[in-house]
Amino acid sequence: MTLAYIALGSNLGMPIKNLRKSLEYLSQEMLIQNRSKIYETKPYGGVQQNNFLNAVVSVETNLTACKLLKTLQTIEKKMGRVRTFHWGARIIDLDILLLGEKVVQKENLQIPHKELLKRAFVLIPLSDVHPQKLFGKKITEWISLTGDSKNVWLAKESW
Ligand code: AMP
Repeated sequence: MTLAYIALGSNLGMPIKNLRKSLEYLSQEMLIQNRSKIYETKPYGGVQQNNFLNAVVSVETNLTACKLLKTLQTIEKKMGRVRTFHWGARIIDLDILLLGEKVVQKENLQIPHKELLKRAFVLIPLSDVHPQKLFGKKITEWISLTGDSKNVWLAKESW
């Protein structure tokens, strides 16, 4: 079994329900080890859209990197189909952050996730469930390097 970290995000429909539902789907495919608190986060880049809810879960899995990506995409698809009135929009985003020590550099899959160290909305929940240093630095140091932690706060919703 390999320990993996998966980021969850939603800003459409009822984000808290989407996070809970995606966790339920994930738990059917892998062993959920731990889950972060839920954070509310401001969307990047000035596009007018709702705030997100973000979280990170750690899981134990035997899936290969490609199969894990497929599994996450299947869950995203299933959840998208439920809310057809949001045509084209995704109500859940599931990203592989880390998969043990594995490094993958494919066109459709990069592990560690290539935006991991740039995103406070991923690093802050990750720090709830990932006790060790990340690439030689404390996660809190990576968080301050993003300069973006003001846009991430504890959500009033919880699991
Ligand atoms: P996004 O819009 O951020 O969900 O990006 C979706 C695309 O990112 C998918 O088509 C994946 O093939 C690709 N991708 C690359 N690396 C990863 C990763 N570590 N986890 C999830 N998706 C990834």
